[in-house]
Amino acid sequence: MHELAVAQALVEQVEDVIRQHHAVSASLIRVRIGPLAGVVPELLGSAFPLAAAGSRMEHAVLDLVTAPIKVRCQTCGAETEAAMNRLVCGACGDWHTQVISGDELLLESVELETVPT
Ligand SMILES: [Zn+2]
Repeated sequence: MHELAVAQALVEQVEDVIRQHHAVSASLIRVRIGPLAGVVPELLGSAFPLAAAGSRMEHAVLDLVTAPIKVRCQTCGAETEAAMNRLVCGACGDWHTQVISGDELLLESVELETVPT
């Protein structure tokens, strides 16, 4: 299961944040996922508790934010939002576009607890 590996990487990343801030635990973890990232948010949501079990974020809420797909048009240069199955320029309708966001998987923010609960 690909999402479990993603969840484990996420746990390691949050562990680093906890360590850097000398915090006790994480209470909320916000992750930005683009529709083109190849990760199913529902599966990541169910894999996370497995990866986080026994760690300092096992009680954290995982908040998955869907990022929009953005394309840059190679014809008119506009940067517009696009649908996953229709990567066309929103300004001129041209198909010659390049995806500039929507394939990211980013740890956007972490809320930390500094006092043991
Ligand atoms: Zn265009």
